[in-house]
Amino acid sequence: MAGLRSRNISVSEASRPVLPRHARLKFDETRQVWVILAPERVLAPDEIAVEVLQLCDGVRSVEAMIDQLAAKYSDPGDGLAVLEQRGSTAETFGIPLAVLAELTHRCPLQCPYCSNPVELERGGSELTTEEWKKVLTELAQIGVLQIHFSGGEPTARKDLVELVQHASDVGLYSNLITSAVLLTREKLSALADAGLCHVQISFQGNEPVVADRVAGFKHAHQKKIEVARWTRELDLPLTVNAVMHRQNLFQLPDIIQMAVDLDADRLEVANVQYYGWALKNRAALMPTLEQIEEASRIVEEAQARLKGILAIDYVVPDYYALRPKKCMGGWGRQFFNISPAGKILPCHAAETITGLEFLSVRSNHSIAWIWQNSEAFNRYRGTGWMPEPCRSCEFKEIDFGGCRCQAFALTGNAGNTDPACTLSPRHEQIFKQAESEAAANNNRLIYRNFSGGTLETGGDYGA
Ligand code: SF4
Ligand code: SF4
Repeated sequence: MAGLRSRNISVSEASRPVLPRHARLKFDETRQVWVILAPERVLAPDEIAVEVLQLCDGVRSVEAMIDQLAAKYSDPGDGLAVLEQRGSTAETFGIPLAVLAELTHRCPLQCPYCSNPVELERGGSELTTEEWKKVLTELAQIGVLQIHFSGGEPTARKDLVELVQHASDVGLYSNLITSAVLLTREKLSALADAGLCHVQISFQGNEPVVADRVAGFKHAHQKKIEVARWTRELDLPLTVNAVMHRQNLFQLPDIIQMAVDLDADRLEVANVQYYGWALKNRAALMPTLEQIEEASRIVEEAQARLKGILAIDYVVPDYYALRPKKCMGGWGRQFFNISPAGKILPCHAAETITGLEFLSVRSNHSIAWIWQNSEAFNRYRGTGWMPEPCRSCEFKEIDFGGCRCQAFALTGNAGNTDPACTLSPRHEQIFKQAESEAAANNNRLIYRNFSGGTLETGGDYGA
């Protein structure tokens, strides 16, 4: 493992533990519990674990901590044991822990799998700075703990530093989800000074030929590498987000190494999920089953090899899964999304479902009211709406019937079982379709833009 800095945990009495740079211990006033905030995670440590964590300041030694705890508890060893077992997630809380704020749909990149809706919201409809600040304040008041500033490209907003500062002021853990190409070092430094807690940079490959073509933007890859380095120089925690598909899966080992070389804390290996722009580009992006099997093997090996150095999250593409993903942790259970114009959505793709009315922060209702009472949030909440086979399935409280947007895209009815599930009567059909599209090898992309998409020109696109 020469050349890698190790985060493997080896604790002795002389160790001076400190929380990892991406994690923050905070008392959640709404729920009256201590929580650890980290990218994509909220953990609820045990009471004794909190006592231990509060002592992890990087100055006290473990020996000093034990002495201090021994004065308070008869068996400090229990506290340390609880700390090791901590990780009970806060998912049972009834109000959202994290919110995705899509500040704008404007973006210089044109990714063919972009999770924004095909009908993008124009710049003129975006919430103003004051409206966003009011939203952030309201979110903190109702008990939201994390805000993910996303887009489009959130750095296209001139007020981003002001919004990050406001998020800090109201006590929100803030995460910047960015393509990075518009960032300067000065801007990133200002964001860090404003209290930004974490940066996630998307990568389209591990080198410019593939990455810039997929992004539809020259020199994007080089700029991303530069910004990733600045991120770490400024001591901000970094997640590399790599969206994978048939045309870049062959680079997966190099992408993993790139994340290590960039000193990232986390790597998200996110296979494309097919709705919105990705559905338009499904034939060009769908991997073969062999590619997915190979990718799963590569990730498993890397997870074991890089334990303590790089955390790797892996999302299997729905079409090749046996069971659907627990989309958004269940519709209206843990998460919501605010569109650039202020619409509150159960997920970023929810507007692809026709027939649902999504209320805006500009309406007369509070955000909490919309979350709890609006028809759109309650339509697929819980399990009462489920048809068979979900209704009598043992997994219904585990995956909540999968993705409503995918059910709508593939069956025309968001109330159907997600066809990604092998128990869906439509599963076999979509699996065969995926296989035949992957085998056809038509690689031509439709780029994402405000005109409904532009077909790639000037290359050799396979079949
Ligand atoms: S996926 Fe690509 S096009 Fe879409 S917002 Fe992100 S960087 Fe921009
Ligand atoms: S039948 Fe429904 S609840 Fe059961 S595994 Fe499939 S999607 Fe999940």
